Amino acid sequence: MATKEDLKAKDAAMELAEEARETEWKFPSFTAEMFRGNFRWDLLHPYPAQSEEDKKIGDELIAKIKDLLDKYVDPVEIDKTGVYPKEALEKMKEMGLFGMKIKPEYGGLGLSVTNYARVLSFIGSYCQSTITWLSAHQSIGVPEPLRTFGTEEQKKKYLPRVAKGEISAFALTEPEVGSDPAQMKTTATPSPDGSYYLLNGVKLWTTNGPDADVIVVMAKTPPKIKNGREIPQITAFIVETNWPGVEVVTRCKFMGLKGLSNGMLRFNNVKVPTENIIGKPGMGLKIALTTLNTGRLGVPSAGVGAAKRFLEDAEWWAKNRVQWGRPIGQHQEIAKKIANFTANTFATQAMVFITCSFADKKNADIRLEAAAAKYFATEFGWQGMDDLLQTLGGRGYEMADSLYNRGERPFFVERFMRDSRVGRIFEGSSEIMHLIMAREALDTHFSLVMPIMKPQKGQSMVKLIWNALKFYIKWYPKLWLPSSTNFNVKKLNSTNRDHLKYTAKTCKRLARSIFHTMAKYGPKLENEQLILGNYVDIGVDLFVMASCLSYAEYLMNKNPNDDSPQDLADLFCKNARQRIENNFKAVKKNHNYMYRKVGDKLLEGKYRWLEFDVYEGLPPKYRDYEKNLPIPAEAPDNSKTEAKA
Ligand SMILES: Cc1cc2nc3c(=O)[nH]c(=O)nc-3n(C[C@H](O)[C@H](O)[C@H](O)COP(=O)(O)OP(=O)(O)OC[C@H]3O[C@@H](n4cnc5c(N)ncnc54)[C@H](O)[C@@H]3O)c2cc1C
Repeated sequence: MATKEDLKAKDAAMELAEEARETEWKFPSFTAEMFRGNFRWDLLHPYPAQSEEDKKIGDELIAKIKDLLDKYVDPVEIDKTGVYPKEALEKMKEMGLFGMKIKPEYGGLGLSVTNYARVLSFIGSYCQSTITWLSAHQSIGVPEPLRTFGTEEQKKKYLPRVAKGEISAFALTEPEVGSDPAQMKTTATPSPDGSYYLLNGVKLWTTNGPDADVIVVMAKTPPKIKNGREIPQITAFIVETNWPGVEVVTRCKFMGLKGLSNGMLRFNNVKVPTENIIGKPGMGLKIALTTLNTGRLGVPSAGVGAAKRFLEDAEWWAKNRVQWGRPIGQHQEIAKKIANFTANTFATQAMVFITCSFADKKNADIRLEAAAAKYFATEFGWQGMDDLLQTLGGRGYEMADSLYNRGERPFFVERFMRDSRVGRIFEGSSEIMHLIMAREALDTHFSLVMPIMKPQKGQSMVKLIWNALKFYIKWYPKLWLPSSTNFNVKKLNSTNRDHLKYTAKTCKRLARSIFHTMAKYGPKLENEQLILGNYVDIGVDLFVMASCLSYAEYLMNKNPNDDSPQDLADLFCKNARQRIENNFKAVKKNHNYMYRKVGDKLLEGKYRWLEFDVYEGLPPKYRDYEKNLPIPAEAPDNSKTEAKA
């Protein structure tokens, strides 16, 4: 059972997360509109293809990167030794790959978001460890928060350095704080004269951290007092790792991504000049969340590259492996796996490209679309890799070198599975993507209904009710009107038109259903994570369906004699429609209470009787693991050492 302290901590975390949430929608969001019942096909159609000029820039860079990878990066060797080749890093720096997203005036390549995604996709199809060096550096490291929140002085000082290859990282997670960063323990205490802060604490799993030159570090600064209450403050700092007191406690190793540089860092009274605050004091969580909002597009970009690369393996093996008198690809069980893998890869590509184009054209808000892309690409990508491994049978489980050494074509799926699994965990886990999207799905209702249920002092109840009524009287009846079928879809064939009409109709059904469920549960809906997850999954499927249809139409207009994109869109949409119907059913009829019941009993130790005939506890060598706890050292007083500002 949650204690009073737990509940207090939960409320404080929710309050802080709520304050850090971006509430303003400067541009329309396809997904946010969809949750309100508006199907904004106009945002996705015509398909926002990359311009020829921009495509050429991407093509040329990718060709150069291929040479670099062939010469300096051997992913199998990296996987075996856990050592990332220094020469490869130097060559990537020379090529400007650490400044891909940085504007040319600050020494970067100034790539469009689409080209950046294409590069990550290309490298992701070859070596995921290489991706982590580049992506942690510029998707979430110093360049990304400085782009949005940095001052001109900070940009001039740091961007040219990181563009040239001073390595950067992003330190938010701590040993006790993962998905809920509001509870962080790292502190930054202002000096009496306000010229610097003293940073103290431990950060865990900082990618690039052990080799980084500059790190974005989130830390608690003194609370603000508002209406007599303490409001915790989190602030973002740029920290240079050669400053006294920055220490790499340990390098962390994982099931995959063996060439990743990742570690636990400790900050012992590190003196950080006040001008190194990004944004303003107290804006740290907002900066972290905003950075992740856009930065997490790197994960699906790399993922779709890996998936596209494996299409060749699927084709080759399913055609050439003959069992029971037929190529295995002609047995229906395997045909289903490889067909779904292909259709889902096509769908992911459509969605990632569309979201990148929104970011490039700055004509739509991408925070929900990037979350949807990351969630979909990593969940379906994982399922796809597993299906592919199953298609390869024993060879899928065997390591590439082992296959090669006995004269067979090597497959790299097992390594990619180990490397990509973390995509469902970092930069916001799948469960947290659900929560983020669910929060926005409910936003309209939360902002109108919550104040009625939990009125603040001095608010007029009559006014609150009137505001809600005014909105719902207009909005709700519209959800029952037929959807406009005039979507400029004449060129779509009848199958795709049917899918599109379903998508438009289902947006309204989704908005109605969310509203009815909100009315049924009230504020308690917040605790119904599985129902909210059903709604989010419906929303994600609708977004991906619409992206697929737009992409298929574009490809078929370009090449009218090839109807293969049509098949992929059709298969994806048919599967998605099945999932959507199942999700609607699960909202109405489910046994969600049983998960809670059994889960609670497990937490209470009521199923220990099941643990018989097992090796109990840890193997002897590991029993004293706590002796390795990184207890903070006697913190040296670095405040007397001049920080290199
Ligand atoms: C290889 C690797 C690289 C990383 N790189 C970085 C980095 O560069 N910088 C950085 O700051 N961090 C980094 N991380 C940390 C990463 O972002 C966290 O692992 C992630 O945020 C999840 O935190 P956690 O692992 O502590 O899981 P926890 O937060 O403890 O969660 C455990 C499980 O519970 C679920 N869960 C938690 N809260 C809820 C909830 N409210 N509702 C439903 N489910 C919930 C989670 O989804 C997860 O499945 C990295 C991690 C790894 C493994």
